[in-house]
Amino acid sequence: MTVIELTKNDVFTAPRDGANESLWQSKLHAGTESPSYNESTVYDTLIVGGGITGLTAAVLLQQQGQKCLLVDAHNLGYGTTGGTTAHINTFADTTYAEVENDFGAEAAQQFADDIAGAVSTIQDWVQTYKIDCDFERKQGFVYADEEKQLKELDSLFQSAVKVGVKARLAPQAPVPVPTVKVITIDDQAQFHPLKYLMGLREVFVKAGGVILENTRIEQTTQKDGYHEAESEGRILKARQIIYATHIPPGGVNPLHFEAAPYRSYVLAVTLKDKAYPDALVYDMQDPYHYFRSHVVEGQKYLVVGGADHKTGHGDPEASFAELEAYVRQYYEVDSVAYRWSAQYYMPVDGLPYIGKLPGFSEGIFTGTGYNGNGMILGTLAGKILSDLVLGKENPSASLYDPGRVKPLAAASEFIKENADVAYRFVADRFSTEELDSLDQLQNDCGMVAEFSGEKVAVYKDPSGDIHAVSPVCTHTHCIVNWNNSEKSWDCPCHGARFDTDGTVLTGPARRNLEPVDLKGKA
Ligand SMILES: Cc1cc2nc3c(=O)[nH]c(=O)nc-3n(C[C@H](O)[C@H](O)[C@H](O)COP(=O)(O)OP(=O)(O)OC[C@H]3O[C@@H](n4cnc5c(N)ncnc54)[C@H](O)[C@@H]3O)c2cc1C
Repeated sequence: MTVIELTKNDVFTAPRDGANESLWQSKLHAGTESPSYNESTVYDTLIVGGGITGLTAAVLLQQQGQKCLLVDAHNLGYGTTGGTTAHINTFADTTYAEVENDFGAEAAQQFADDIAGAVSTIQDWVQTYKIDCDFERKQGFVYADEEKQLKELDSLFQSAVKVGVKARLAPQAPVPVPTVKVITIDDQAQFHPLKYLMGLREVFVKAGGVILENTRIEQTTQKDGYHEAESEGRILKARQIIYATHIPPGGVNPLHFEAAPYRSYVLAVTLKDKAYPDALVYDMQDPYHYFRSHVVEGQKYLVVGGADHKTGHGDPEASFAELEAYVRQYYEVDSVAYRWSAQYYMPVDGLPYIGKLPGFSEGIFTGTGYNGNGMILGTLAGKILSDLVLGKENPSASLYDPGRVKPLAAASEFIKENADVAYRFVADRFSTEELDSLDQLQNDCGMVAEFSGEKVAVYKDPSGDIHAVSPVCTHTHCIVNWNNSEKSWDCPCHGARFDTDGTVLTGPARRNLEPVDLKGKA
């Protein structure tokens, strides 16, 4: 393996799929220029999506002699990797007890070994390539703050110990929250996710990998021995394709019903009393809160997350308010420096989907359904997907195969959360909201309204000009909702998100919302 020393270049701020800036987006180093894309080349692998999954797979494949092309519809880090909180844990949202219950003890052990392996990969790469991304090992703490959470905490604890996670009871957690019981877990870690991503970019580019940003893949066609991928009339060619798009795009794919989109909220606050926790800390509430600290440009921040809800449901402003009230209840907050939200995908049976993309031709792969654990599971996906592309045996591949038969026992929570999807398919086609006057709408806000007998998604920009698009999601035709916090149109069915002008921000939709000419309709 060639070891590549990283260099620093120009500083920039990476855009992401929301209006709120995350703690990670600014002061990144652009790095070495990508080799030029050659349109006549049939690349070995086309990696679609420049988040942690795509970059990890790209590095592994390019290092093993492949000629890779990595494309992103926007820029590297535009997706959830730019809005994550970057805890690197050796336990996951789906507990080892749940995996043992639904998939068996061997599977729970495999899951634990895979997670530990992914943490080691990240640490090894940071050291080998000298990636300056604030990687630090930390102690983890999980606590119950109510008696009713004890059973679940005990189950989490015992099942973690059983698969070799170094967990034990602790007298207290390093947060000012009254606790009932606390466990502590060794060997956790954290990093700056976009600095890590830029480090992987550098390794990939220096090994000869080609990157094309602002290149959305609209569709792919199987040819004799390779695939053609279309992007705005341009045809890219590759023998195999990895959709590292967080959720695979396309019409209606089985994975769109097996991985449900959720939004999670984050605050990065400064404290008056400097009581920043030097650990990764989680409570057992539902949805749970999580804490850690990070220094960015010399300023320390307490990073607090939580208040999750299904995408297109809930009120983003209420979620931010709830999270802020929660943190202010326990900390002397000096200022709320950053607040943002981002999207994750909850898998129906608790395990991620990594492997051949169902419903697509041979040689097309994906990774999705990471819950809030994509730093490790995206890294794991990169490893499994690169092995599958290279035709190598991977002992974990069958456990995460997207074509697996899911255990029904685990699906009850998911079904409860998604019962409204079927309802919305019907209800969205009948119930309408009256828009008496566009004057009602505040500047920089949007709403779905009835206009001349048809629904329109109306956005009034900061200077008061009206922009209208069709509210019908181009994926499965549900009606989008306005997300006033991230200034986007969010689909409540499968989580597609669109900019104020209807441009796709987040799949699975591949086409923009149709523009509507209000004057022509009036
Ligand atoms: C608020 C929040 C906090 C989280 N905290 C943690 C945490 O502490 N620890 C942890 O392990 N995980 C965490 N997660 C989960 C983790 O961040 C994600 O699972 C992970 O970032 C997903 O990475 P990805 O590379 O698969 O996708 P993304 O980072 O979303 O990247 C996908 C990329 O694909 C591109 N794309 C999409 N469609 C196309 C197309 N058609 N053509 C070309 N490009 C396309 C997008 O532009 C995007 O850049 C958190 C998630 C949220 C929402």
